[in-house]
Amino acid sequence: MKQKLIAGNWKMNGSLEANDALVRAVAAGMQDAKCDVALCVPAPYPAQVQMLKAGSKLDIGAQDVSQHAGGAFTGEVSAPMLREFGVRYAIVGHSERRQYHGETDAVVAEKAKTALAHGVTPIVCVGETLAQREAGQTEEVVKRQMAAVIHVNGHCISEIVVAYEPVWAIGTGKTATPAQAAEVHALLRKQLLAASAHAGRVPILYGGSMNAANAASLLAQPDIDGGLIGGASLKAPDFLQIIAAAS
Ligand code: PGA
Repeated sequence: MKQKLIAGNWKMNGSLEANDALVRAVAAGMQDAKCDVALCVPAPYPAQVQMLKAGSKLDIGAQDVSQHAGGAFTGEVSAPMLREFGVRYAIVGHSERRQYHGETDAVVAEKAKTALAHGVTPIVCVGETLAQREAGQTEEVVKRQMAAVIHVNGHCISEIVVAYEPVWAIGTGKTATPAQAAEVHALLRKQLLAASAHAGRVPILYGGSMNAANAASLLAQPDIDGGLIGGASLKAPDFLQIIAAAS
């Protein structure tokens, strides 16, 4: 069985002081972890985290990446820049980026492609809103979001990470039930396998109010290969319990 991946998404939280305590505690507490662990930190902090994580197998992630590799794009951060700071992953297409920054499926796909081309593994987020779920559109929405990434030419989809994050479960304390999550993970897996024979190795993470109490039951489902964790990744004891549940 492949190792699970537990990725924290700090969102726009943190400070030099707070990060210091959090990263030290996570690095010290995960020494026996039998899963992969990443921290997706705000753009200014990879250098600090790289220094603090020394000696631990913690990976660093970004929360976004430009679809361009460089040039006149004010405010953007490129994949080659992230690589210089030891960043292994970049979240792309988080629902907060889609909702507040107008990111389309096409932009998300370009970001995934550029990240891969420069050695950064994209964590591609898909997920339906509450209205879409209630209208019976979950399958259609997540498949459309995924298809855009799969069908961008010239990149190897077996190298991506996928995160299923139902929008109604993000930051709300409402988690998808293990059965609800497993149902969507299964159809995403099927879609990935139809696109690439190697897609069995693509980790499909669940995200949306995953916490110390519900992690084990979610992670026990087939095709739930880890978690993308927001709120609970900001508290070392909670995050460490999730890591333990995945180990
Ligand atoms: P949450 O966020 O765990 O706070 O719900 C998850 C995410 O947005 O990635």
